Amino acid sequence: MRDTWGMADTHDVTNQAPPLVSYDVFSSDAALVEGVQRHDAGWATDRLVELGQRAGTAEAQEWGRLANDYPPVLHTVDRYGRRADEVEFHPSWHALMEVAIGAGLHASPWVDPKPGAHVARAAGFSVWSQVEGGHGCPVSMTHAAVPALRADQALYDEWAPRLTSYTYDFGLRPPQDKAGCLAGMGMTEKQGGSDVRTNTTRAVAQPDGTYLLTGHKWFTSAPMCDVFLALAQADGGLTCFVVPRVLPDGTRNTFRIQRLKNKLGNRSNASSEPEFDDTIAWRLGDEGRGVRTIIEMVMMTRLDCVIGSTSLMRACVAQATHHARHRQAFGDYLVDKPLMRNVLADLAVESEAATALMVRLAAATDAPDDEREAAFRRLGLAVGKYWVSKRGPNVAAEALECLGGNGYVEDFPMARLYREAPLNSIWEGSGNVNALDVLRALGREPHAWEAFRSELAAAGGADARLDAAVGELERALADTTEIETRARRLVERMALVLQASLLVRHAPPAVADAFCASRLGGDWGHAFGTLPPGADTRAIVERATPKVS
Ligand SMILES: Cc1cc2nc3c(=O)[nH]c(=O)nc-3n(C[C@H](O)[C@H](O)[C@H](O)COP(=O)(O)OP(=O)(O)OC[C@H]3O[C@@H](n4cnc5c(N)ncnc54)[C@H](O)[C@@H]3O)c2cc1C
Repeated sequence: MRDTWGMADTHDVTNQAPPLVSYDVFSSDAALVEGVQRHDAGWATDRLVELGQRAGTAEAQEWGRLANDYPPVLHTVDRYGRRADEVEFHPSWHALMEVAIGAGLHASPWVDPKPGAHVARAAGFSVWSQVEGGHGCPVSMTHAAVPALRADQALYDEWAPRLTSYTYDFGLRPPQDKAGCLAGMGMTEKQGGSDVRTNTTRAVAQPDGTYLLTGHKWFTSAPMCDVFLALAQADGGLTCFVVPRVLPDGTRNTFRIQRLKNKLGNRSNASSEPEFDDTIAWRLGDEGRGVRTIIEMVMMTRLDCVIGSTSLMRACVAQATHHARHRQAFGDYLVDKPLMRNVLADLAVESEAATALMVRLAAATDAPDDEREAAFRRLGLAVGKYWVSKRGPNVAAEALECLGGNGYVEDFPMARLYREAPLNSIWEGSGNVNALDVLRALGREPHAWEAFRSELAAAGGADARLDAAVGELERALADTTEIETRARRLVERMALVLQASLLVRHAPPAVADAFCASRLGGDWGHAFGTLPPGADTRAIVERATPKVS
């Protein structure tokens, strides 16, 4: 006998975990729900639940798979041989984008800047990115471009309404005729990505006030965006420019896409190498102030790297705990095996710590006029970007193993999460660059350290291991010997005490205690699954396991 799938009746499928679908990605994440409440964003709960339910559908998960299995295709020329420079996407990419833009993940804090607006957006971005990471790139860059545009009122007035529209309107058409536009960023060139001062793209001023750009960019993601903030060398030095793909008169600006990158992960998203050749651009900010101008955008995308890696780690923990709850080995469910529970709890603690830091940084972003919060954000964001995005690949690798062989197979979501995981640590300032940025802030902006220190002090006396670690950190920071060589260690310590201070104040005692014992107290191994005996792994795992309807 064969069943309808053509399988012989010798082929019973038993003991396989069901797919993780039909669940609310938001409400299943207790740490996120509590963070949203804690940081003035409770008003967004209904919308987040709606997005969470959508993210948990089989349909949305399938969009994520298809958008990556059928990556974007570049058409450099049309069938007659004329330059086209267009990228074609699978319909699933557009479906993902439509939900993201419709939910305001690219704009909500600018459209409705009320208390908790950045926290609500961070939660939404984190929830929806669990479906698929790649399309978060243009969503993030569009969100980040808006504050940078404030450097020029006329350009802001022209572009901000288009970039904050909640309508996804794909295609290269005159921006003024579109219901919504998207923005990207072109900084990196072949000879330097971290050191953008080496940019060689030239900008020549024109009598009408515009500039003509000529040069190559080595990485410019989402090239179907309507407008880019790009760096180029003007007479006065490195300058930021607004480069639209279609000019106001409806003609195409020169933006020759040489090729798309063949990437490890992030396959749904197109990352390109564009060539500018007398490309028309509008100056944003003063000549020579390019880095200062675009840093507004970079600060926002750095927050999104924290959100993206937090989202990825949460997706990993959700998959791993769900699997262990349904899969049996040696007579028990995996989740009931003490050693597997240690692995899952250790991963869950990492994910909770990232979540607590993410919402805290988003909350600081919600208070730009509060000097203390702004100072805290300056340092906290560089520390958080370094550490949270560094943890992603480790969590992904271990969570993948929780699914055994299935974790290594492309039919399951873990392989995609694993390939995506290193990216957030590379772009928007790679690990070392962020670590050095922390040193720069410590050296030049004493208020930043004071604000950081007072955040730690809020948890003073709550846990002896945390108090000791803060003392140790202060001593380490006071010693400037070979400080650059020691930067990663210092930043790592700063991240851990900051995360601990948040967990001690806000997380359940089981989570905070396991974090402090392992990450601060040293009672930990070199791999996940090495929490000390006595850690309440059952409570930690129970809290982290998604509730499927
Ligand atoms: C998928 C993808 C998409 C991207 N999209 C975009 C985009 O849309 N727009 C854009 O502008 N860029 C984009 N980038 C480029 C990205 O921002 C750069 O790759 C990144 O900034 C690093 O620059 P680089 O590749 O030139 O490496 P380098 O700058 O050469 O750095 C190499 C290594 O050296 C380290 N390093 C650098 N300086 C120091 C130092 N002083 N001390 C110690 N170590 C140091 C870095 O941390 C890094 O590990 C993208 C990259 C990827 C992978």
